[in-house]
Amino acid sequence: MKLKEIKGKIRRHTMSETADVVIVGSGIVGSSVAYHLADAGCKNVLVIERDAHQGKGSTGKSMGGVRAQFTTPVNIQMSRYSIDFFSTFDERVGHPADYRAHGYLFCATNEKHLAYLKANKERQAANGVTNVQFLSRDEIAEIVPQLRVEDILGGTFCPTDGFVDPHSVMMGFMLNAREKGVRLWLNTEVTGIEVESGRVKAVNTSRGRVETSVVVNAAGAWAAIVARMADAELPVEPLRRQLVPTEPFDGLPKRFPMVIDMSTGFHFRREGKGILLAWNDPEETPGFKTDFDDTFVEKILTRAASRVPCLAEAEVNPRRAWAGLYEMTPDHHAIIGPAQNVEGLFFVNGFSGHGVMHSPASGRITADLILRGYSEIVDATQLSVDRFETGKLLHETAVL
Ligand SMILES: Cc1cc2nc3c(=O)[nH]c(=O)nc-3n(C[C@H](O)[C@H](O)[C@H](O)COP(=O)(O)OP(=O)(O)OC[C@H]3O[C@@H](n4cnc5c(N)ncnc54)[C@H](O)[C@@H]3O)c2cc1C
Repeated sequence: MKLKEIKGKIRRHTMSETADVVIVGSGIVGSSVAYHLADAGCKNVLVIERDAHQGKGSTGKSMGGVRAQFTTPVNIQMSRYSIDFFSTFDERVGHPADYRAHGYLFCATNEKHLAYLKANKERQAANGVTNVQFLSRDEIAEIVPQLRVEDILGGTFCPTDGFVDPHSVMMGFMLNAREKGVRLWLNTEVTGIEVESGRVKAVNTSRGRVETSVVVNAAGAWAAIVARMADAELPVEPLRRQLVPTEPFDGLPKRFPMVIDMSTGFHFRREGKGILLAWNDPEETPGFKTDFDDTFVEKILTRAASRVPCLAEAEVNPRRAWAGLYEMTPDHHAIIGPAQNVEGLFFVNGFSGHGVMHSPASGRITADLILRGYSEIVDATQLSVDRFETGKLLHETAVL
């Protein structure tokens, strides 16, 4: 080892690091918090990531879907902020997000689902999302002629819903934040959070101790483990989610929306030359399972071929399919805000399948709460972890 390296090593182990804010986790959410803090002028921020590269958690596994078609005002408001942000991401952040406004098309096959979509459309309009259209069966068939539509009663389409590239968004946020002075430590695990007299004092890491009075838990599916380091309870559970890409397939249009078959929950979109197939298996149980289960291919292809008969011809290579983790909360809404009994600890967790699409809003809300104690974009008290004790749960049913 060269003298310079030895000196560096000694310095790293003896000098006490400090930061105004430490963010645990550099996925899309931690990166957005870093960007929004730096953008608001808070630059002494340190992001700590245990992996050697960013995006190896859920962010790199995501389907990249972005939508405002939700049921609760807070989710709709977070989507509005986020979609507006994505549409100007490249100019604001200086890096591409690859936002594609191809829309989301929900298809109802029974009266209950139809009434649900109509009620949602009104809720969305009341919260400023006024471009959701109600479509007839024939209009749906025009958008995707290959759909089997005889049992479809109607649907809703929002043209500004669509997709982003999650990796690009994450990198854009982080690159911009680093240009403003934010530091990123890769290959470094947070192993403990020191709390003294009810206040955060420091984090312990595999690279030494860092003094700080603010810690942001952006640890995705591992967030409950990080919360426990400060003796805080966080109801976030990992749940496996599997995606299946087809080989190049030209039986469907080159461009079409994310299509959701509400009768089964099966949904799909174009991904390059192939089609990306998704379905929420109700038999899945919580746990840190990230292996892809080959039996899932048959389950999803059955649902795919039932709604889109030509997909029966699509080729699938199970080795190209993958699994990742949703970070689920009991009411399928994010938990954003201060921990109950630990001053200086903030949560931005539990996105329940919506962490990519809500990353701009969640980063902004978290930065607002740290720097000002409130956020102008939503009433953040609704998202507080307290709700699981006070019973003020939110109720989102539009979960894919
Ligand atoms: C298959 C699949 C499809 C999805 N599709 C969509 C979609 O279409 N639209 C959408 O909006 N969302 C989707 N999601 C959800 C979305 O991917 C997540 O909500 C989002 O990526 C969460 O981002 P995050 O930054 O909180 O977590 P992550 O990306 O998991 O990042 C957390 C980071 O914390 C790090 N970390 C954890 N513990 C420590 C520690 N102790 N020390 C240091 N670092 C630590 C991890 O290494 C990781 O890099 C999907 C998820 C999956 C799995």
